[in-house]
Amino acid sequence: MAGIYIHIPFCKKACHYCNFHFSTSANYQNEMIDSILQELFIQKDFFENEKIETIYFGGGTPSFIETYQIERILNQIQNYFSLQDSLEITLEANPDDLKKEKIQSLKKIGINRLSIGVQSFFDEDLIYMNRSHHAKQAIQSIEDIITAGFTNYSIDFIYGFPLLSDEKWQKNIDLLTHYQVPHLSCYAMTVEAKTALNYLIEKKENSTNE
Ligand code: SF4
Repeated sequence: MAGIYIHIPFCKKACHYCNFHFSTSANYQNEMIDSILQELFIQKDFFENEKIETIYFGGGTPSFIETYQIERILNQIQNYFSLQDSLEITLEANPDDLKKEKIQSLKKIGINRLSIGVQSFFDEDLIYMNRSHHAKQAIQSIEDIITAGFTNYSIDFIYGFPLLSDEKWQKNIDLLTHYQVPHLSCYAMTVEAKTALNYLIEKKENSTNE
């Protein structure tokens, strides 16, 4: 199966646990997209006679950048690669980016699957993680993508952090069941080196040892 993954390395905020490659400054967005277009051109013979079945925009936060930039990348892929009719095009999105107009514009350029970084439906958890969205925005984004006609989408959740209880986890799952979310991805929170979370834990440990 042939697929193309495009990494969009920009985010609105730095989540405390994250060690992915990203920048919270979008200053070099144009240069970055130009480089991706160039790389696609360089790799144009990579798949030879294979047809592309999936395109995945990950990050970072692909929904953070303007839709026309995503469209530029899709046009480049179309120009230089052979695409399967039933092509799946996924875009990772954060709830606060998924305003109604944005959802419509993404749909219009061919995005047919969304992967949404909800992580929790509780504000206290989202603040703990330093996420850029609130619980209400998470619920609103799910309602809005359903209204826009998206049937293929996935929700990301995080478990295994001190604030999360069984009751809260159950409430999170109940909401997903209520909206009949078709796919759920759950990730255990891990403390990675050089992250704000690691720094905060070490700081707390040091202060309790003093
Ligand atoms: S939005 Fe995603 S990529 Fe960006 S900092 Fe948060 S977890 Fe990392």
